[in-house]
Amino acid sequence: MNWYFIILTVTVTFFFMEFMAWFTHKFIMHGFLRILHKDRHYPTGNKLQLNDLFALMFAIPSIILIILGSISGDDLKLWIGIAIAAYGLAYFLLHDTLVHQRTPLLKNLINRYFRTVISAHLDHHSGKANYGFIIMFPWKYFREEYQQDRNFKY
Ligand SMILES: [Zn+2]
Ligand SMILES: [Zn+2]
Repeated sequence: MNWYFIILTVTVTFFFMEFMAWFTHKFIMHGFLRILHKDRHYPTGNKLQLNDLFALMFAIPSIILIILGSISGDDLKLWIGIAIAAYGLAYFLLHDTLVHQRTPLLKNLINRYFRTVISAHLDHHSGKANYGFIIMFPWKYFREEYQQDRNFKY
């Protein structure tokens, strides 16, 4: 597989995973499996949450694709598996460390994009829809963030 195709595969898969995360969050986590998502919205104080099971579920196809791709030399499977893992890592870093501070890893890392993600996602926790995470939420959050920057007086 040449590099253009690898980059295309990884990019498409990465954003497809945002769609999958949005879909799962809206229809499954707030649907028939809401019992597993509840401790994300009403923290129990435990280090591990039932909600973490979703991360495991998303990891399974990634692991299978990486193993199968490596064994059979199928680059497409391998890179799709890697892209799913990359989305999982991005979600973990943004959601669990940046927004919810489960570990202080990204405590001081902040920019416009991160502030937008944080305000969109915190609104989800206070009852608004915003089921997507890295980009699938109303773009008014980006507008508001940039507006605020423009109106900011020193
Ligand atoms: Zn939720
Ligand atoms: Zn959250």
